[in-house]
Amino acid sequence: MTNTKRDRVPVLIAGVLCLDFVNSLYWRATETPIEWFNEYPDLISWSQSLKILSVAEARKLLLNAQNNAAKASLITKQAIQLREAIYQIFFAIIQERLPAKADFRILNSMLGKSISQLQIAPSATGFSWQWQGVESHLDSVLWPIARSAADLLTSRDWPRVGQCPGDGCGWLFLDKSRNHTRRWCAMEHCGHKTNAILHYHRKQRELAKR
Ligand SMILES: [Zn+2]
Repeated sequence: MTNTKRDRVPVLIAGVLCLDFVNSLYWRATETPIEWFNEYPDLISWSQSLKILSVAEARKLLLNAQNNAAKASLITKQAIQLREAIYQIFFAIIQERLPAKADFRILNSMLGKSISQLQIAPSATGFSWQWQGVESHLDSVLWPIARSAADLLTSRDWPRVGQCPGDGCGWLFLDKSRNHTRRWCAMEHCGHKTNAILHYHRKQRELAKR
């Protein structure tokens, strides 16, 4: 496979924001999953792919993170913790179990913070929810994720979350097919994932050397 620009961006197949975030752990169902969030800039690049950050917001957050390295490292760990809580909640639902209270505690904690940053403001089409203070809070990238998970859990779609049975894959997705027949994460039997993330990390190392 050639290293096209497409290889460098996350593979987004879930159909809903919070599950695309959950899928930032590649090959979850193996003994050696590949972690996308090794440091704060990884979180930012993923968030830009999810279109929850503008270029300007991303730039300011990265600068902010450089000046607050310890905090940025903590937020990266929190992002993984939130991601795993959301995963465990939906994994329990897929297995027809009640999700653990501890996982709801993690989700609700971030949800509380995110909701306190929401405001109504005029928009191009009328009025809309907008996040306040995105650039000045290193964890602001997690606010829309928590809200997306809450929205999905309180919608009628919550039983329609599925998990790809591909060998070692483990990715989650929202089955939007009319007859609930979606089974796989992507057409190519998960094959392009490894190439994408290996290329991404190689590129990150090259950039770090400059
Ligand atoms: Zn898959």
